[in-house]
Amino acid sequence: MILLNERFLERDEVTIDIEDRGYQFGDGVYEVIRIYNGACFAMDAHIERLRRSAEQIEMILPYTLTELEENLLKLVEKNNIKTGIIYVQVTRGAAPRAHHFPEGSSSVLVAYVQSLDRPLTKIRNGVKVTLTEDIRWKRCDIKSLNLLGSVLAKQKAKNKGFEEAILHRDEVITEGSSTNVFIIKDQAIYTHPANNLILNGITRNKVLKIAREKKFQVVEEPFTIKELLNADEIFITSTTIEITPVIEIDQTVIAGGQPGPVTCILQKEFDKLL
Ligand code: PMP
Repeated sequence: MILLNERFLERDEVTIDIEDRGYQFGDGVYEVIRIYNGACFAMDAHIERLRRSAEQIEMILPYTLTELEENLLKLVEKNNIKTGIIYVQVTRGAAPRAHHFPEGSSSVLVAYVQSLDRPLTKIRNGVKVTLTEDIRWKRCDIKSLNLLGSVLAKQKAKNKGFEEAILHRDEVITEGSSTNVFIIKDQAIYTHPANNLILNGITRNKVLKIAREKKFQVVEEPFTIKELLNADEIFITSTTIEITPVIEIDQTVIAGGQPGPVTCILQKEFDKLL
């Protein structure tokens, strides 16, 4: 079953207007929420980020956050999903095509769930990544439907047989195409600050909390390509890939080609939250 605004429908009953602004302009925002054992992980944080993303693009959500949360929980139940994800997006709705905000359109919410196993092989063995220029706009803090910059970067990684593209603006590493990036040097953990140049990941924040609880030094400051390539360990985080070690960047082998010890400690603590 699919959630379309406040209605639960079969997939073939759902229709989206060809002038929906999400479809024509990417004018909308979204979230991806993990389901573990039939329960939603960090639901409140995702709902809050959706609220903020909508606010930042001056879009009104079709109903209250409490109703949204209730409907998403119903959706998971109705589909009887145990391990998977919820995808929820809200667009500015349908209106005759013009760039500026339409008057009187109502936002359109679509949510669906799908089964998706934890990528345990990647989490345990690590992945290879490539480095590419961050060509995205300057509001990456908004989880917007405009994903072409990320799509093109991810494809570059895929063409090389790699899992992810790590992005840099000039010499500074921002994040991955769909992940946040962390490096470890001399036991200290570094990640880009949560400003307009990255998405403030829900997994990122869980990791930072764990790292501080475990008394690691945590540095939310930009680091360079050189520092990335010289890191003792690297890992990437997201709702779907959790904490995934990076063992190679293009030709550079990291941490001897294996998940590093600090990464493994953080992974172990993260697992306890699931
Ligand atoms: N950065 C970008 C660009 C992303 O698309 C994502 C995944 N949505 C993340 C970071 C990770 O965020 P989260 O941990 O909330 O999934």
